[in-house]
Amino acid sequence: MSNFQVAYNLIDSLASGSKLTFEEFMLLLEAYQSDRGNDVYRYARNKAAGIRDSIYGRNVYVRGLIEISNICKNDCLYCGIRKSNSHCDRYRLTKDEILERVHYGYNLGIRTIVMQSGEDAYYTDEVLVDIISSIKEKYDVAVTLSLGEREDDSYQRLYDAGADRYLLRHETADEEHYSKLHPDNMSWSHRMNCLNSLRRIGYQVGCGFMVGSPYQNNMNLAKDLVFIQKFQPDMCGIGPFIPHKDTPFACEKAGSVELTCFLLALIRLICPNVLLPATTALATLSSDGRIKGLLSGANVIMPNLSPEVVRSKYTLYDNKANTGLESLDALDSIKRDLEINGFVLSLDKGDRVGFDRKKIRGD
Ligand code: SAH
Repeated sequence: MSNFQVAYNLIDSLASGSKLTFEEFMLLLEAYQSDRGNDVYRYARNKAAGIRDSIYGRNVYVRGLIEISNICKNDCLYCGIRKSNSHCDRYRLTKDEILERVHYGYNLGIRTIVMQSGEDAYYTDEVLVDIISSIKEKYDVAVTLSLGEREDDSYQRLYDAGADRYLLRHETADEEHYSKLHPDNMSWSHRMNCLNSLRRIGYQVGCGFMVGSPYQNNMNLAKDLVFIQKFQPDMCGIGPFIPHKDTPFACEKAGSVELTCFLLALIRLICPNVLLPATTALATLSSDGRIKGLLSGANVIMPNLSPEVVRSKYTLYDNKANTGLESLDALDSIKRDLEINGFVLSLDKGDRVGFDRKKIRGD
């Protein structure tokens, strides 16, 4: 049997709900790489899109992303807002500024708010509980947090205050690879423990990784896929690595849009119900990156709802695309772009199909 036939069979197995081994994921990645005609990618993409359509239809869920602070105590080697980047112009939003953006997004029809930030000690549990409960009191929205690693009781308090979902990319499922991307004081096992706690508490949980991060090889990617298959995240954020000029990885090369799309397709096959964003990093590297992601099985987009004055300061990587929600026109133009490509912009809260908050918490 040819490499490609093996790959088609493996994709069929995933599509019929079977699990693959580490070695089988390696075979799939190798077949993808040796396939000059892109047939393996197309085969995976068509299966993935079909599965996505059968579960979510052609709906694409919109999340309003508010980048609440770029102050960070961590020094991740790839990230533009790392602590030791002295060229980064730091800011943080107050409760009132955040609520103003939520109000604005709500009036546009946005029903999921994502608050993302560096690990900024200003946002104590008290401060966040106050912000989250005020949002939930006034607006009928889902609240997603992406605030990095915190302690279990902190995650619990934020959940009790009304947070629904939490995004915490695992970054890489390989501990040794993790140690090449992060300083010594950061721990892979702590990050993995955080994901398990979030799941136990009852959040819809998102993990994810960068495609083409420095030192990444097929074994790392196969481990990521095995991990995702086992963890079965509710959401999964993957995007190409893009260098930032003021980081130790300034001269590394960016990840590939095509490989990211192939992996999006595999993740859709591995976790059929997953909420899968076509990320800003994908849109940054290619003008049609977002659409390519959606055609590969993604079903979420996260346009920017941060105040316009701070948007250029939340620079994780160079030349970050700015798909913003600055006006109703901006939302309309996203909607039209989706429609041209056969998708429907959905303003539903867009929980993961099959997710039941009460059942997991047992109350
Ligand atoms: N402090 C939060 C949010 C981090 S930023 C946390 O720790 O979870 C969100 C994601 O952006 C990161 O998890 C990382 O995967 C991605 N990211 C950071 N720098 C990047 C870069 N240079 N290229 C592509 N993605 C990057």
